[in-house]
Amino acid sequence: MECELAVTVDAVCQRCLEAFRLQLDAEAKLLLLELDETADGYDEYEVWELEETTLRPKDIVEELLVMAMPFAAMHADSAACKALSAEAGDKEEMTKPFAALRAQMMQD
Ligand SMILES: [Zn+2]
Repeated sequence: MECELAVTVDAVCQRCLEAFRLQLDAEAKLLLLELDETADGYDEYEVWELEETTLRPKDIVEELLVMAMPFAAMHADSAACKALSAEAGDKEEMTKPFAALRAQMMQD
C-alpha cells in the first residue's frame, strides 16, 4: 500500500495555548502482512503486521495521522503565535494570568 495524506486539523498551540489549524502531511509505503508472514523485494516498505485478514483503510489513515502529529503542536508561523509576539513586544500580556489570580486571591 502506498499513500500520501494531507489534512488540516484543529490543534492547540503548546506555546500560547491558542487553537489553530495545523497542516499535517504523511507519506507511507506499507507492506501489510499477516503475523510472521514475510515477502521479498519490498525493502523500501515498512512492514505492518496485521492480526486480522481484513482491515479498514480509514484505520490506517488514522494511524498514519497520529504518527505524523507532532509531540507538541505549535504555531509554525511565529508571527501568528501569541507567546512569541508577546515575548517580542508586550510583556504585560504574559503576566496577566498571574495578576488575575492574585486579584482573585485578594478577594477571598
Ligand atoms: Zn502559538
